[in-house]
Amino acid sequence: MKYTDLYIDGTWRAGSTKARFDVINPANESVLASVASADIPDADAALDAAEAAMDFWSRQTPRHRSEVLRKAWELMSARLNEFAHLITLENGKAKADATAEAKYAAEFFRWFSEEAVRVDGLVKHAPDSGARILVQQRPAGIAVLITPWNYPAAMGTRKIAPALAAGCAVVIKPASETPLTMLALMPLLEEAGVPKGLVNVLPTSRPAELVDHLLHDKRVRVVSFTGSTSVGRKLLHSAADQILKPAMELGGNAPLIVFDDANLDIAIEGTMRAKMRNLGEACTAANRIYVHDDIAAEFTQRLTREMARLKVGDGILDGIDVGPLVNASTRDKVARFVEDAVSRGAKIETGGVIPEGKGFFYPPTVLSNVPEDAACVHDEIFGPVAAIQTFKEDEDVIRRANNTEYGLVAYVFSEDMRHALQICERLEYGMVGLNRGLVSDPAAPFGGVKQSGLGREGGHEGMLEFMETQYISASW
Ligand code: NAD
Repeated sequence: MKYTDLYIDGTWRAGSTKARFDVINPANESVLASVASADIPDADAALDAAEAAMDFWSRQTPRHRSEVLRKAWELMSARLNEFAHLITLENGKAKADATAEAKYAAEFFRWFSEEAVRVDGLVKHAPDSGARILVQQRPAGIAVLITPWNYPAAMGTRKIAPALAAGCAVVIKPASETPLTMLALMPLLEEAGVPKGLVNVLPTSRPAELVDHLLHDKRVRVVSFTGSTSVGRKLLHSAADQILKPAMELGGNAPLIVFDDANLDIAIEGTMRAKMRNLGEACTAANRIYVHDDIAAEFTQRLTREMARLKVGDGILDGIDVGPLVNASTRDKVARFVEDAVSRGAKIETGGVIPEGKGFFYPPTVLSNVPEDAACVHDEIFGPVAAIQTFKEDEDVIRRANNTEYGLVAYVFSEDMRHALQICERLEYGMVGLNRGLVSDPAAPFGGVKQSGLGREGGHEGMLEFMETQYISASW
């Protein structure tokens, strides 16, 4: 591996303590790389660099920032295979999933290069005083970005691109399971024209201490986090000390509802996508599948056929649909969800057995008759397990779908648009996939309600997370 050190002020550094940690290939459990682990002095150095770079960058024209981001999109698009390869090595996901992620990640550079030159302000007359009210958006300040392992590239670019478009500098703390992709992105950003110090990357084996230190430095103004609700909650507590601007993309527990008037071909395809994109290791993954009683038998049979057909193996190989989960604890947690559901009366239609040998593999699994008290109904499975329940009445399924502290995404399948839209409006979720198993789109505001988060990424809203409104009261 070429890039395994800390990236601070445009230079590669071994880190103040010289400590390192291993990154493991989940397909065969071998050590892929030994990566430098950042400590407090490294965090300070990154913030010094960010401060100087932001002073310069925030005064560049929006057009200049836009063109640097556009160049990043072009460069990354030309190297999708290279990034996909690295994503598969450190995360495990199969080649097709990794390539889709690399493309999705690159698209945030294109989208925010377009948004960079479209930031609106406002001028109006004060109704009573004769003053003019001028409203403008300004860069919010240095942003600390903390990203998860399930999308090593896209969860980073979804934050870096809008931050840079807005005129901010960033310090990124990638997940310790998957720091290599983010490090490998840095030479590309340099080539695109990102000045040194504007983007700094600090992998670490001590995330709690490092991030807490960063969030208590007076120069930091934004914390943007993607990860679990439990860690997000802790970061919100830390952010409160300096009243930081928080953007929180947290966990999900997505319901997927198939009504009796759904087109079953579309519903099966959408369910496969919502469940198996990223082998279920996605905050958007369909966690609870509610199927109308009248079509449940046929739906279950067809979904089982599709799931059983998927080929499991090392994601780097051609023809593999499902790679390993990211580590042993994630795989074992998935296995425990299945055991728990079965002990409460669920039936395994396919899968459900951990294969022998190296690698953190878990087979695509379908559970039917999942009871409401099963653990997987209340917590994120984060793996390739489709848990099917049935329903008869709209009111019952809406109540059950909303009966969670999460509110990221829901999916609805129905051919009756009037009925479907009525249902969508009653679901307490930040996003709804209607006759679609995929909602992620750089042009759309991605994010959740309730304990799934605060703020939105992508769309027009994504850049506002890195901007502050300033109002000038003027007389002339
Ligand atoms: P995680 O919360 O364990 O870790 C996320 C990041 O936080 C990692 O970089 C980790 O090193 C860091 N971290 C861990 N403990 C920390 C602490 N005490 N202080 C500061 N940083 C800390 O989550 P994960 O296991 O990497 O990712 C899976 C979770 O992320 C799931 O819950 C999933 O739903 C969620 N997720 C949400 C979205 C979204 O957009 N809403 C997208 C992807 C993943």
